[in-house]
Amino acid sequence: STFEGLGMDPLLVRHLKTKMHVENPTGIQRSCLPYMLSSPLDPDQTEDTSAPLRDVLIQAQTGSGKTLSYLLPIVQTLLPLSKLSYIDRSIGTLAIILAPTRELAQQISKVVEQLISMSLSLDEEDDRQFTRWLVSGLLTGGTTRTHEKARLRKGVPILVSTPGRLLDHLQNTSSFQCAKTMFLVLDEADRLMDLGFEETIKGILKALEGRRKNEINVEKELDEEGGGSMRWGFWGRGRTN
Ligand code: AMP
Repeated sequence: STFEGLGMDPLLVRHLKTKMHVENPTGIQRSCLPYMLSSPLDPDQTEDTSAPLRDVLIQAQTGSGKTLSYLLPIVQTLLPLSKLSYIDRSIGTLAIILAPTRELAQQISKVVEQLISMSLSLDEEDDRQFTRWLVSGLLTGGTTRTHEKARLRKGVPILVSTPGRLLDHLQNTSSFQCAKTMFLVLDEADRLMDLGFEETIKGILKALEGRRKNEINVEKELDEEGGGSMRWGFWGRGRTN
């Protein structure tokens, strides 16, 4: 099967081929892309307001293409939001990807950057002129907390982080907008647990839920705009428990 056949936007597929030399989906991508893309937050799609919450657990070898298997659905889901008039960077963080180590977070962040630069070139060819709000950020504690806070205040739609630093900002950075976060990815979920991050991850989930309360209900808002639901993805590699 092809990426198009799995539900990927043909323009994204073309750019995957020309810019990233990714032509055919890997096994893991064939398995999860249709599932992840089956309830798109497409403002033009009016009927599917009862789309289920989708939790996904992937178990796959290194080199199997797992990173794109979660990043492609995230980017393809966020791109159409550009059509909504209230979407800009002030919407805050819509997708959070957690990785157990700074090195892995940096690698993921590079792939996110590639996909986002691709979305910018889509703007030039297509009539989607509004994706400049879609920026990514990396929180690993590799820079000062003040610098990270400043970036969060401006809004970072796609955030890659290590768990401790994310929890730190959830607890201490009041301008960190994450009431509308709709994707949470745990990359190498098994290692995240091995490394004793379990309590931190629980704290992150609790903090995200807490911030969602008393804030605008994105699920309802998007439904009013025409459909969609919150999705939480959990990705892992190696054994599951
Ligand atoms: P990962 O398993 O996510 O660490 O990916 C391993 C490598 O495979 C990365 O260099 C990706 O760019 C590459 N890759 C991912 N998906 C594909 C694909 N469908 N075709 C060719 N290469 C891919």
